[in-house]
Amino acid sequence: LSEIKVLSDGHFDMLSESYLFTEVRRRTALLTGGETHGLINLSIGDVAYPIPEIAARAMVSATEELADNARFRGYPAETGYDFLKNAVCGYYRRLGFSVDVDEIFIGDGSKTDTACFTDIFERGEVVIPTPTYPVYMDNAVLRGNRVVTVCGSRQNGFLPTPEGLTDTPKMIWICSPNNPAGSAYDYCGLKKWVDFALSSGSVILFDAAYSAFCGEGVPKSVYEIEGASDCAVEFYSLSKAAGFTNLRCSWTVVPKAVKTKNKSVNALWKRRQSARFNGVCYPVQRAAEAVLSDEGRAECKAVIDKYKRNTRVLGDFLKKSGVWHTGGEHSPYVWLECPAGLNSWETFDLLIKKAGVVGTPGCGFGRGGEGYFRLSGFTRPKIMEQAIERLEGLKIFI
Ligand code: PLP
Repeated sequence: LSEIKVLSDGHFDMLSESYLFTEVRRRTALLTGGETHGLINLSIGDVAYPIPEIAARAMVSATEELADNARFRGYPAETGYDFLKNAVCGYYRRLGFSVDVDEIFIGDGSKTDTACFTDIFERGEVVIPTPTYPVYMDNAVLRGNRVVTVCGSRQNGFLPTPEGLTDTPKMIWICSPNNPAGSAYDYCGLKKWVDFALSSGSVILFDAAYSAFCGEGVPKSVYEIEGASDCAVEFYSLSKAAGFTNLRCSWTVVPKAVKTKNKSVNALWKRRQSARFNGVCYPVQRAAEAVLSDEGRAECKAVIDKYKRNTRVLGDFLKKSGVWHTGGEHSPYVWLECPAGLNSWETFDLLIKKAGVVGTPGCGFGRGGEGYFRLSGFTRPKIMEQAIERLEGLKIFI
């Protein structure tokens, strides 16, 4: 067989094996002999309820427009339609501050947005709090960035601080509420990062994928912190907030005040998008606009409340059982210390074998995750109740 002589980019060889969810599936099949019927899956980071009806209606009518001679549209604008950007401005207005229409970029999901954003910066230092969403690390490796990790732990409540970092300018990833630990910075904790970014000339890349789960006392947006609009970019996803994991829609806020060597980061990102992206389809943008309306927000909230109830009852059970855990309160994930001195994969095996419950081993989310375990609230309340009954029956949690 002949091979092409164009070599692959060497950075690909430096990526760690992307095995977490593949391994979760492989091991589940092995432990159950392929008989997965009756298993309860709390490993999942995907939604359990359909998209809001208002979104479906908006898509149907937008698709009918596209099929109509007088109303059809061709390519969308790369940065999004103004009707949706205006609805996003409304989202920030309700949080108490103003974002300009030109500062908003509509995207097809925060995975794409977060994976691509650092393309506009030189290959400098990237700070990644771990354990975390693996996309930040993979893309720093692919870009050839120098990675500095700051480790979450039981001591810091899985909310690392900038303490001890050098003042070299950095790209700093912050995901709050966090995946996988479910922990969320309060105003004071997030302010420390903003102050550090301002004093070191760094940029904060704030992933707000789970901000719809925030309760009282934690910022939903980085811009709630004074000074953030001079140093922070925010990524928001409708995947978990509105059940858009399949539809795909997100936005990125790039304030015009964020500048590098007199160039506006907003203009750089706009130029990058015009070179590499052709926008999000019209029916999806209409669906996104619909979920940001009063009626849409009420529909989304009803579903989020169900997920939050799930994590609350799970958290209550763990508390009663004396298991250290975090998350759940402002997030769809509960992050617990593995019981009885087990490691992450041993806990995984035991839960499947003895309780028929599938979770996610913390070690798969990077440094600091070993010895911990993630359980997700993305399920129906009845199923969560069954899962808790099974975990209670297991006795290792008592
Ligand atoms: N950011 C975090 C922290 C996530 O956990 C996820 C998905 O699980 C994403 C971003 C990706 O979201 P999207 O579906 O918008 O690509």
